[in-house]
Amino acid sequence: MTTSYKQPTTRGYYGQFGGAFVPEMLFPNVEELRTQYLEIMADPAFQAELQGLLRDYVGRPTPLFEAKRLSAKYNTRIFLKREDLCHTGAHKINNTVGQILLAKRLGKTRIIAETGAGQHGVATATVCALMGLPCVVYMGAIDMERQAPNVARMRLLGAEVRRATSGSQTLKDATNEAIRDWIANPVDTHYIIGSVVGPHPYPDLVARLQAVISEEMRKQLLEKTGSELPDFVVACVGGGSNAAGAFYHFLDEPEVRLVAVEAAGHGVHSGHSAATSVLGKPGIIHGSKTLLMQDEHGQITEPYSLSAGLDYPGIGPLHAYLGEVGRAEFIAITDEEALAAVAELSRLEGIIPALETAHALAALGQLGAGPDDVVVVNLSGRGDKDLETYLKNMDKLI
Ligand SMILES: *Cc1c(COP(=O)(O)O)cnc(C)c1O
Repeated sequence: MTTSYKQPTTRGYYGQFGGAFVPEMLFPNVEELRTQYLEIMADPAFQAELQGLLRDYVGRPTPLFEAKRLSAKYNTRIFLKREDLCHTGAHKINNTVGQILLAKRLGKTRIIAETGAGQHGVATATVCALMGLPCVVYMGAIDMERQAPNVARMRLLGAEVRRATSGSQTLKDATNEAIRDWIANPVDTHYIIGSVVGPHPYPDLVARLQAVISEEMRKQLLEKTGSELPDFVVACVGGGSNAAGAFYHFLDEPEVRLVAVEAAGHGVHSGHSAATSVLGKPGIIHGSKTLLMQDEHGQITEPYSLSAGLDYPGIGPLHAYLGEVGRAEFIAITDEEALAAVAELSRLEGIIPALETAHALAALGQLGAGPDDVVVVNLSGRGDKDLETYLKNMDKLI
């Protein structure tokens, strides 16, 4: 058998990373999912329903746009994969559409989710409205204040937003509350996790659902460049789902360089950063073994990034593995560099990117790509949700 980076072991390991470290009371829920997800996803009826929704509801395939003015600036050939044009404004819906269909096949009648910045909560509330399923989203009390427009969106879509008031009152605490809910409601409830994190099978499940991004890229590249394979694929990494989707069908093509871009915040070693691949050590977070920002006692260190979608103290186990074996390269980009990239793409191509996405764009100058190279940047989301941050930083943007 040939080895593939795509497939974890049956217990969900990518090298030393992954697995399922869950309390005993959660084991049956995770086990039900683990033993059924591959079979359900392989069912032609499931695929037909998924492909129909991706096309008519999400708006796929998303375009692969050749950014000519950006290319001229960096003296290389740059394409943008337009996930920002997906319904709800980012790639997250690729995952929630797939998971709600899976939940229905498992006979579940109620959906829960955790959310930090609110983007995953909105994508989950959206598909619950579509399917007529009740939806409870757990969100830290502090995040609810910081991200009030997304709280309003979720409520408008019919979801109940429950305030997590323990600990730091942010994503980590919302996740704990969601897990508690799932333990209390194991039979009727499915927990939709928003990135390639959590216990096996979630990292593999979410990577497979996001893999549509690179599946489309290969076809579109063949049409536009005469080859399915680019020289570089660049994506930002919070938990790692848009990067997993953009990398997936290139993982076993060693000539394609995979570049994962993390948030350096004020600077990797400033004490205010989310550059997990540099600062993290192996540890367990949200049910899987991965790289994790932690102090000498193993307590999670608060991550920082101006971008709410990237300030996560871990990365998915697949990315931890790709970094360890050298299959992916990691670059860290500061708040300031990301803001400059927001301004650059807006002015050069008429596209205002999400702040998360801008981290990937800011790495363009560091790739060492030449005039004959083809570079694909995964444009994970649009900037509408970040307008308040952009307003506060107008002096750096114009
Ligand atoms: C949530 C989000 C991210 C980060 O999440 P990943 O799982 O790492 O993809 C990146 N970009 C946008 C636009 C997001 O909303």
